Amino acid sequence: MARITLRQLLDCAAERSYGVPAFNVNNMEQALAIMEAARSVNAPVIIQASRGARAYAGDIMFAKMMEALEAMYPEIPLCVHQDHGERVSTCLSAIQNGFTSVMMDGSLKEDGKTPGSYDYNVGITSEVTRLAHMVGASVEGELGCLGSLETGHGEAEDGHGFEGKLDRSSLLTDPDEALRFVQATKVDALAVAIGTSHGAYKFTRKPTSDVLAMDVIEKIHAKLPNTHIVMHGSSSVPEEYRNLFNENGGEMRETYGVPVEEIVRGIRFGVRKVNIDTDLRLAATAEFRRVANRNKSEFDPRKFLKPAMDAMGKVCRDRFEAFGCAGQAALIKVKPMSEMARLYASGALDPHIEKKAAA
Ligand SMILES: [Zn+2]
Repeated sequence: MARITLRQLLDCAAERSYGVPAFNVNNMEQALAIMEAARSVNAPVIIQASRGARAYAGDIMFAKMMEALEAMYPEIPLCVHQDHGERVSTCLSAIQNGFTSVMMDGSLKEDGKTPGSYDYNVGITSEVTRLAHMVGASVEGELGCLGSLETGHGEAEDGHGFEGKLDRSSLLTDPDEALRFVQATKVDALAVAIGTSHGAYKFTRKPTSDVLAMDVIEKIHAKLPNTHIVMHGSSSVPEEYRNLFNENGGEMRETYGVPVEEIVRGIRFGVRKVNIDTDLRLAATAEFRRVANRNKSEFDPRKFLKPAMDAMGKVCRDRFEAFGCAGQAALIKVKPMSEMARLYASGALDPHIEKKAAA
């Protein structure tokens, strides 16, 4: 059995100082491309599904697909994670469907677009943590709203993201508040706001420290050296695929993602999970366009999907290698969720804050 919880996987990553990409998945081709890439470099995998992805594939299809991956790639530790749960029931139904980890995003209210107060966030996240930990599942929380420091706007994806404009302080996670939040909620991982946003249009130029606040990660890591930090909206939007997309009839305006070297720097300061969605979407659809443009009589979907899988797999391999998780799969001995539940109940997995923060 290779299904692993986020907590155990990120504990291993912290011990050996690497980061793990978390790829969003909607269909079989994305899932297979990720797993093949992982096998080729012996990397552990985080596959995550948004609410939109669960609705698209259907919970039964998604759950059976994850079972198939587990059977096909038994040597690859596989964490199945709910991305941006907006209410308790979303998180619990994910666990019912075989997810080993859930994100409760209480930075926004249930509508997925109105920023929630700190107290609201602590209340709902603590509730999910209490319930999920009973069965050994992991919880990621979020503090601060994801959005652009260039414009003050969020970029909604799959219907998730705030509307309107926020001031700079709401778009950056406060390190002292982060400390209190982790203490109060006992989350296993913390998503932080540092100027990244969802979608393809993250930055209008190569990001510098005024719009991509990596220093905030360093400050949070100093306060919370044992907490696993999560970077959302961390596609790099490779120019290679944007060009291929545009050369074949696409219209994607100039845009910049999060440079891989900035993520690698984050990994030195406690970033353990790196969310990537746009890069695989773009690699796949750029290939669709290339095939459609070069062979206008082609109508076999596999002739589109196979090159798309190859392109997605190449992006995955690049990230596994850059983030240091290539070669790590074989070193992980997966603990079942029942064992994780026992560890939570014993208090062994509680955040170790006072001891290390004071050191
Ligand atoms: Zn996100």
